[in-house]
Amino acid sequence: MRDDLEQEEIKVEKADAVERSIKEWELNHPYLKEVDRYQEASDRISKIEPLKPDLWKKKNETDRVWILDRIGKELSEVYHTPKPDLLQKLKERDELGSYSDGDWQIEINRESLIGDDPKEAIRTYCHEFRHSCQHEQALAYEKEFPVDDPQKAEEWARNLQRYIEPPDDGTKDPEHYQKRFSEYESQPVEKDARRFADEITERVFRKLNS
Ligand SMILES: [Zn+2]
Repeated sequence: MRDDLEQEEIKVEKADAVERSIKEWELNHPYLKEVDRYQEASDRISKIEPLKPDLWKKKNETDRVWILDRIGKELSEVYHTPKPDLLQKLKERDELGSYSDGDWQIEINRESLIGDDPKEAIRTYCHEFRHSCQHEQALAYEKEFPVDDPQKAEEWARNLQRYIEPPDDGTKDPEHYQKRFSEYESQPVEKDARRFADEITERVFRKLNS
């Protein structure tokens, strides 16, 4: 019969082994890794004080851009990807934000910054940030560097070579506009960016409100 101390050691050893094998399993399952990162990212973002709706309300647009940039710093650490510059622009087109890989820049429009609710600003920023990750992963895939999820990276690389821009104007031919718009929206990179932004934003808001 083993003594208590020995049994305790075996217990600890076993718990360590189980933990190691779970970690290994998770590493090989991109979806789980993805969920972990959503959690980690939203944990960090929800600690950015001025995102709390009653503090956000009192901030001007310049401050709000600066606060969104702090989200970028957190995302860039969690996703191990560099953070693009953030600019505020007044745009004629009614898009909320955009990402330009050539300029390596996220633009956020005034539409996303006005109003007392930070939710849309967070969602827009996260959406555009995700586009920068997609470009980075697609490029790594093309150069045969390691990527997080080879299947996704390949899909993004293919999509980005034939990216469909959103249509400009819906007034002349609404039917054509609608068709083009749904082609734009259903591209893999757009679907993924929307999902990413929703996952993070919903989690951040649950935490901010709890
Ligand atoms: Zn997009």
